[in-house]
Amino acid sequence: MSGSAPIHVIGGGLAGSEAAWQLAERGHPVVLHEMRPRRGTDAHQTDGLAELVCSNSFRSDDANGNAVGLLHQEMRSLGSLIMRAGDAHQVPAGGALAVDRDDFSQSVTRALAAHPNVTLAREEVDGLPPAAWERVIVATGPLTSPALAAAIGALTGTQSLAFFDAIAPIVHRDSIDLGKAWFQSRYDKAGPGGTGADYINCPLDREQYDAFIQALIDGEKASFKEWEATTPYFDGCLPIEVMAERGPETLRHGPMKPVGLTNPHDPTVKACAIVQLRQDNALGTLYNMVGFQTKLRHAEQVRIFRTIPGLENAEFARLGGLHRNTYLDSPRLLDATLRLKAEPRLRFAGQITGCEGYVESAAIGLMAGRFAAAEAEGRTLPPLPQTTALGALIAHITGGHIAAEDQGAPRSFQPMNVNFGLFPPLAQAPRNETGRRLRGPEKAVLKKRAITDRARADLAGWIDATTPSPLAAE
Ligand SMILES: Cc1cc2nc3c(=O)[nH]c(=O)nc-3n(C[C@H](O)[C@H](O)[C@H](O)COP(=O)(O)OP(=O)(O)OC[C@H]3O[C@@H](n4cnc5c(N)ncnc54)[C@H](O)[C@@H]3O)c2cc1C
Repeated sequence: MSGSAPIHVIGGGLAGSEAAWQLAERGHPVVLHEMRPRRGTDAHQTDGLAELVCSNSFRSDDANGNAVGLLHQEMRSLGSLIMRAGDAHQVPAGGALAVDRDDFSQSVTRALAAHPNVTLAREEVDGLPPAAWERVIVATGPLTSPALAAAIGALTGTQSLAFFDAIAPIVHRDSIDLGKAWFQSRYDKAGPGGTGADYINCPLDREQYDAFIQALIDGEKASFKEWEATTPYFDGCLPIEVMAERGPETLRHGPMKPVGLTNPHDPTVKACAIVQLRQDNALGTLYNMVGFQTKLRHAEQVRIFRTIPGLENAEFARLGGLHRNTYLDSPRLLDATLRLKAEPRLRFAGQITGCEGYVESAAIGLMAGRFAAAEAEGRTLPPLPQTTALGALIAHITGGHIAAEDQGAPRSFQPMNVNFGLFPPLAQAPRNETGRRLRGPEKAVLKKRAITDRARADLAGWIDATTPSPLAAE
């Protein structure tokens, strides 16, 4: 394929490096455009490819009990350069995979620079890619340079490209106590596609509410970096602790207002405040805490939010946050193979698609590279089963998340780490050898094991179905 037109990858971070590697390994010429060191970002410190801008951890490496550990395993089985370099340069970190950041980045840089199919262009792409570039993967990350971000914003519509994420915590539906909480939409309004019972409601009495407000005010917060503090975000997404600081009644008149809802467990008692959780994915396994974006530290969020009646045992698929971040409204804009519907020669990868994290960004880069390679060869890759970690993540980004137009919010898609809530539920609850249904921690362990076993089997099937047989090649 050396005579064919090159595929252009913009951004040599976690996603772009992995995408370029997948293409090059399939025999496609690639031009990898990386603007550093000519132009820097507010977070990168070096000119190395795949630089880790903050922590040096790829998180849990447990492929049987953790969704990101499973993602590691799937990426290794698909020949990931990022995982190969991570494994080669790991440092002791218990059950996590942590790496020596400099050795890791240098090893990725060397591998790509030495690959005969890769041309490394140290330049900024400062507008939409030229029309002559037939196939492009945009992997410019959360700190995409302003000129390119402006061009993408003009193409997609400004509402579709965010510069800040305001993440409300997301809770696993099966960890919410419906003996205290209940399903109901405010005033039983059905709304588009709704039933009138679309929200989970958690009631607080006056004493619980006052204690909750005080805990928000006293809770330890994460600070903004200097360059984050200057990015405007306050319209419509104030952190809850900032609202609490404005006055004890503010939240009761905002996201925690108790009107239009009746507690079926005790209809005679009027709640002082109500926390609402809204379905977050099409599978109905995840619910987000409406209006609860926060800069509280993660451990504080868990401690404080578990004081809310019904959430005492809540398991969080992700915790809240506010960060500088450039990302698309992907469920609306991208097709199932990560192409921009409005301009399919442009494919997106990495954090700009609305995944979150080093590993997830590299994983989406891996699949973007494989989709682009197949397309250049005149083939279409069948979709990855949603039962795999890679498939679950892509399905969420390209359509699994459900929008919340009824909240008056123009968009509700927020960046997401891989987690078991993105996987379809098991057909059967796990049972022990005697056939008895399990409960508690034993059930949780076996459930994760069953989900990861199913993922491994389904990924193996997908690999078999997509690997050209040697006979067919003859
Ligand atoms: C400050 C900060 C801290 C983070 N900390 C963590 C963490 O601890 N753990 C974690 O898992 N995730 C973290 N993330 C989230 C995220 O997973 C990482 O940012 C990850 O690097 C994203 O991978 P990516 O490939 O999408 O983008 P990046 O790794 O940022 O790569 C994008 C690349 O594109 C280049 N580029 C940008 N614009 C252009 C252009 N116009 N032309 C050419 N090149 C361009 C950049 O120089 C960069 O090299 C953090 C994010 C930020 C912003």
